[in-house]
Amino acid sequence: MKTLNDFNFENKKALIRVDFNVPLNEKFEVTDTTRIVSAKPTIIKILEDGGSCILMSHLGRPKGFQDEFSLKHIVSTVSDILGVDVKFVPDCIGADAEEAAANLKPGEVLLLENLRYYKEETAGDVAFAEKLSKLGDIYVNDAFGTAHRAHASTTIVAQFFEDKKCFGTLLAQEIESIKKVMETGEKPVLAILGGAKVSSKITIIENILDKVDHLIIGGGMAFTFVKAQGGNIGNSICEDDKMDLALDILEQAKAKNVQVHIPVDTVAADDFSNDANTQIVDINAIPDGWEGVDAGPKSRAQFHDVVMACKTILWNGPLGVFEMEKFATGTIELGNSIAEATEKGAFSLVGGGDSVAAVKQFGFQDKVSYVSTGGGAMLESLEGKTLPGIAAILE
Ligand code: AMP
Repeated sequence: MKTLNDFNFENKKALIRVDFNVPLNEKFEVTDTTRIVSAKPTIIKILEDGGSCILMSHLGRPKGFQDEFSLKHIVSTVSDILGVDVKFVPDCIGADAEEAAANLKPGEVLLLENLRYYKEETAGDVAFAEKLSKLGDIYVNDAFGTAHRAHASTTIVAQFFEDKKCFGTLLAQEIESIKKVMETGEKPVLAILGGAKVSSKITIIENILDKVDHLIIGGGMAFTFVKAQGGNIGNSICEDDKMDLALDILEQAKAKNVQVHIPVDTVAADDFSNDANTQIVDINAIPDGWEGVDAGPKSRAQFHDVVMACKTILWNGPLGVFEMEKFATGTIELGNSIAEATEKGAFSLVGGGDSVAAVKQFGFQDKVSYVSTGGGAMLESLEGKTLPGIAAILE
């Protein structure tokens, strides 16, 4: 696996695919700088080598050249974070971009305009990728968030760099973290899957049953398993057409010696709102008119013990409707347990969608080993797929 350390960037121009698809407010100010901060180590390493950086990214989903999606809005934020005056060129290919890239001196950083102003980017157009490739000497992919897309800048462009291509620090970290869970993780290995739907996690469950010793199934997903086993789940969310599959998963887990932990009790609410009345009930005896919205106290204690007994922990998906304060306890307590296990030496990876939001909302990001920056890319990795953006560097 080629990384930045395999190259000396002195007097070289690095063409770096970053993920600067950051949220902007109505004044076009960046409201969450995580993705820019995450790309900093790669950029600084190249500058310190004596190289220069040409940054390319997408922002949102523009239909043609729409000013609101221009990356010019983020230039000052990127400059502040890097501590370098970032130059900007209002195109990503063509004469202006080529001239700006050619004039770039060691120690300088150039940000190109939004790649998705051209439909050729998402189409993975080879001619467009070739134009991008003319801008730099070495291609660096540091955008995990788009690594599952075979777009021109994330995948196709790599073919024009032969052996002059590598992973940036962030992407290398993401790959290592997933490997630590899926391949080289110290046993016992635990996966915690929560969230709303079984259907969106089936391929992940089937893939990880071969890798883990323990599996916690929580959140809304759990009710399909409970009902499939004959429980009364009241008005809780359930995918009736996935009940056979749930039973099949439990069978497969048994055959593979994976211990499955499903909540034994739940916080039941009489309304899907913060003002609802609540009661703690056994998970298989939820009264009609009530729905399970969070893990109950017995389940939380049980999950704590499982987490503390494991050396490698993967967490994807909240244990309850954490967006409502009243139903966030299970998710917060699970975060606390994972933080405690991590402090005691376990490796913990949080990734994919809402668990990342929860971890940030409740301040756990520095207490777990790694928080993934990619939603869809993380989920596809857990499904066992080789992402096109990663394959393109390895080829
Ligand atoms: P996912 O994107 O599949 O990880 O699902 C995340 C969503 O699942 C969050 O918005 C949670 O509010 C929701 N969720 C978790 N537990 C429950 C539950 N018991 N009932 C309904 N929604 C839930």
